[in-house]
This record gives sequence, structure tokens and C-alpha cells, in this order.
Amino acid sequence: MQPIAHLYPLLEDKRNIIVTMHQKPDGDAMGAALALFHFLKKIGHHVTVISPTNWAKFLNWMPGIKELIDFEAQTAKATLLLENADMLFCLDFNAMHRTKKMETLLLGIKCVKALIDHHEQPAEEHFDYGISNITKSSTCEMIYDFIVQSPFSDKLDLDMAACIYTGIMTDTGSFRFAITSAQTHRAVAHLKELGLNHSIIHENIYDNFLESRLRFIGNALLNRLDVLYEYNTAVMAVSKYDLQKYQIQTGDTEGLVNYLLTIEGIKLGALLIDRTEERKWSFRSKGDFDVNELARNHFEGGGHKNAAGGRSSDTLEESLKKFKEVIKLYEKQLA
Ligand code: 5GP
Ligand code: MN
Repeated sequence: MQPIAHLYPLLEDKRNIIVTMHQKPDGDAMGAALALFHFLKKIGHHVTVISPTNWAKFLNWMPGIKELIDFEAQTAKATLLLENADMLFCLDFNAMHRTKKMETLLLGIKCVKALIDHHEQPAEEHFDYGISNITKSSTCEMIYDFIVQSPFSDKLDLDMAACIYTGIMTDTGSFRFAITSAQTHRAVAHLKELGLNHSIIHENIYDNFLESRLRFIGNALLNRLDVLYEYNTAVMAVSKYDLQKYQIQTGDTEGLVNYLLTIEGIKLGALLIDRTEERKWSFRSKGDFDVNELARNHFEGGGHKNAAGGRSSDTLEESLKKFKEVIKLYEKQLA
């Protein structure tokens, strides 16, 4: 994988470019993809963003999102676009399996492939150009760098700023996580100087849910939480019944896992959701406990040291039982 800066000369001529991100894109994946979309379009390329799956409704205010293609909903159209692409940007993920049903297609197409990502252990062999930096707050901060370090840095505008801010804000927990750096704040200061209205973005993302979602969270906190004080661990398992009862949609469970770490002394929070296609784990930790390792070694996943995800094909009960067995192996680290 060559450094991402080596790719700038390839952007001198007009190209067909596809931008994609991980399945069920969050604020960072979506923000990065749309910011890059606006940038590449502005410098003269034909650009399409393809999401591997659907996404949360609270992202629908984002500039450019109406032009997005959902691979699962428009497979034929997306396949044709991918087969005719000159260049593919993969954002906020670093292994093709994170694009689910798009994986085989992405591995098979012969165009130039670029990676911009901040997760651990990238599959660099699949990319021609790229940057993988686990010290960056978010992929959006890396897109900011990619734009301002390019020969087209004057093209940065308010639409890009709004998209970039969304990902920085969501991935840093509104600037609270340790990964938030002086560079992160400097990037945001620059976006503010361009005229960014940050408070409206907070409202759009965090104050835009239905009543049923709040009642779902209330129920989950009251009835689905298990605190294992001997392991400084809190775990919550949400059944299909709960998801249906409260009409939970993609994105409605985002942030729920963070409540678990608000209990004094808790070092590991684990949320298990019974999605139709799989059981999905979200892990969060405080301090040195490495949930990327936990997810990679035991739950078919990965991510960052303090935030990772995983999956299982077992039932909800079996997955939960396995988790309770696995954490016994980490008794010392969790003490
Ligand atoms: P979340 O719990 O919010 O879904 O994910 C936490 C972090 O872990 C995010 O950065 C996300 O991209 C990453 N992540 C979530 N699920 C997986 C997975 O199955 N595999 C890998 N490698 N990373 C994941
Ligand atoms: Mn991210």
C-alpha cells in the first residue's frame, strides 16, 4: 500500500470514483464518505457513494445523502457502477468483510483501491494507496487531513465541514474520549472559521428520535442489564421481542452501550443485540482493557482498544453465556 499522498496526481484527470464505508454506517463512516463525495465532485470527478446496507434515519439530514445508493436495496445498479469504476475509496473500515454482501465484488474488481481508516490491523494487501492511523480520532479527521494536505485544499466548504464535524463529534463522544487530540480541536476550529454551525449538528444527531426509542432504553436499563461486579463488567442483552415491541430501527441502539460504563468502577461494557441476521456485540472499555483483542479473539470482530464490535451466529442466550465464560479468562485485567 503506497502512501495516500501518492494518489493526488491521479486526481488531476476526471475519473469514475466510488466511495464506500462499513455496513450500517455510523456518523463517522457516513460523514467521511459524504465529505469525500463533495470534495471529489468539486474537483471534477464523477462520484457515487455506495453504502453496503441501510443506515440510521438520524443521518438523513446530511448534505448529499439523497444521492446515496444502498447496495442491498439497489444491488444491480451498484454492481454496474462498481464494475465500471476507475477508483474505489474504502473509508472507516479496513477489511473487506465489513462490507458484508459487497465483499466478493470489492475483492474482485480491478480498479485502483484506496484506504482511509483508523481501526487496528488493516488488511493492507487489498489496497494500492492508503493511510491507516489508529491515533486519529475518526476517519472524518483523516478526510479533513486528506483535503487540506491536497493540492485542492481551497475546495473545503461548508457541506464538507458539516459532514466532517459529524464524524469527529460522534467518534470522540463529543470530544471526551482520550483519542481527541489538539489536532482534532484545530481541525474543528478551522471548520468553525469556515462558518460551521455545530450546535445544529448535535441536535440533528442526538435529539431526533421517536418516543418509543427512549422507552426502549428505559426498559433495557431497568430489565436487561446485568452487572458482574466481580469482573467490573456490565452486560446487556436485547432480544428480538424488545426490538419489535419498541419498533427499533437501524441506529436506535447506538450509544446504548455507553450507559454501561457510567457505573462507578465498571471497566468493560458489553451490549448484545439480537439482529435478524446475527447476534451483534458492542464492546466499550475504560483504561487499559483492550476490547479490540477481546472481540478479535472471541467474537469474530475487532475495532479499537476502547471500542469494538463483534458477532455471533449462536442464539442470544448462548452468546451471552459464552461472554460470561470468556470474561473469566480476563479476571486479572478486569480486577
Ligand atoms: P460499534 O460497537 O459502535 O458497532 O463499533 C465500535 C467500533 O468497532 C467501531 O469503530 C466499529 O467500526 C468497530 N466494529 C464494530 N463491529 C466490528 C466488527 O465486527 N469487526 C471489526 N473489525 N470492527 C468492528
Ligand atoms: Mn470511525
